[in-house]
Amino acid sequence: MLKPSRIIQEVIFDDLGPLSISDLIKMPRAGWEALRAGITDHRSGKPGLIARCLLCQGDVYIRTAKNKPLFAHYAGSNPSCPWFTGDNQKPDNVRAGQYQGRQESEAHRRMCDLIEELAKADSRYVKSAVDAYLPPTKADFGRYPDVLIEWEGVGEFAIEYQMSHTFQTEVSQRCVHYEREGIPLLWVLSSFDTNHIPQAVSDVVHRHRGNAFVMDQQAVQASRETKTLVFNCYLAEGEGYAPPILVRFDALTIPNTKLPYYEDRQASAMLEEVNARRLPYFKALRRWGDRMKNLDIDELEQFPERQRIDRLVAAAFSLVADAAGKPENFASDHPNTAGMMNTYQNSGSLAPYAALLTTLIQNTAAKKVLRSSVGDHLKRSIVGHRKGDIVQVDETSPEWTLLKELFPEALDPFVRRRLSDLGMLPAWAL
Ligand SMILES: [Zn+2]
Repeated sequence: MLKPSRIIQEVIFDDLGPLSISDLIKMPRAGWEALRAGITDHRSGKPGLIARCLLCQGDVYIRTAKNKPLFAHYAGSNPSCPWFTGDNQKPDNVRAGQYQGRQESEAHRRMCDLIEELAKADSRYVKSAVDAYLPPTKADFGRYPDVLIEWEGVGEFAIEYQMSHTFQTEVSQRCVHYEREGIPLLWVLSSFDTNHIPQAVSDVVHRHRGNAFVMDQQAVQASRETKTLVFNCYLAEGEGYAPPILVRFDALTIPNTKLPYYEDRQASAMLEEVNARRLPYFKALRRWGDRMKNLDIDELEQFPERQRIDRLVAAAFSLVADAAGKPENFASDHPNTAGMMNTYQNSGSLAPYAALLTTLIQNTAAKKVLRSSVGDHLKRSIVGHRKGDIVQVDETSPEWTLLKELFPEALDPFVRRRLSDLGMLPAWAL
């Protein structure tokens, strides 16, 4: 008899769709950490992400083992699920319970006092408190921020100083709390070893968009010299980190989540990567003067119907150019994209992609074009599909996959959601 797999192989995210364990593992760290944070935040009371086991529909979270992400059932899941691993896999919040209570070690208290002292040197300093109860204005209960500082022109600023591990549940609850209260929250680390980053530390750095803020000797000295709070800041670079730079607290950007950052190393990295992926296509489209020739792109070689794919790519770029407010028809000599689209739906050359192109348009700023003749032509092709005249490519087709890679802002629900959560979804994809 085959031994049943004890690993959750696939989950379904509400609104986003399915994700397999292999796709999860293939994601960049910041990608799965965003899902991990989103799921925990939802449990902490902020509308976040919900993921369910494909087999038992039980809620799952993302845990880590040997520095790799895994799906795990939350406690209380159905033990008869073939992917159930038993109650020994306790979620972070159970483990966090062991660490709850305020572990005010001497060193921790001294560091908090030091941060307060450094803040007091700033001429904008109004008042501060270490480990004092901060009553809530919107939540049911308050919190004890490690350090709460009020600066003129900046307002209140909470600092949590981390010497040891704080579990994801606790991190999430505090992030959600301060966001709700509208108070910026900065997680400050005592040290940061780029060769060994425990998941609990990585979770905190992730919250600050790939910025690790460290109060080390250098930062203390710089704070004293400049008479304000200065941190040593490690910025994520690829899967690693750039050498640290000294960063003043007032140089930080405070987004809606109230989790400050010096440089966004998540959304910007994603967008840069996608732009780099698109660049050769852009160049090829510009060179594509004679529309009878093939686009000079290696990846397209795999398609037997090369000309049709070239046209699809050119049409997609044209639609996105329209959505970006820079209309340009890359696919034909028609004066505009609408003329091109209608002709190619009529002639049938883009008809198999009507569903794909409709989805693309729906997720762009140009979605109203679907209410025009373009929408009518696309609908006709899709209806033709139901009648058996035209076969529509689906999400598993190489064509859909290709456009999803080129325009993930519109066609990849996971990328879309992440950029949206970071407030960085480009205007054309809104
Ligand atoms: Zn299950």
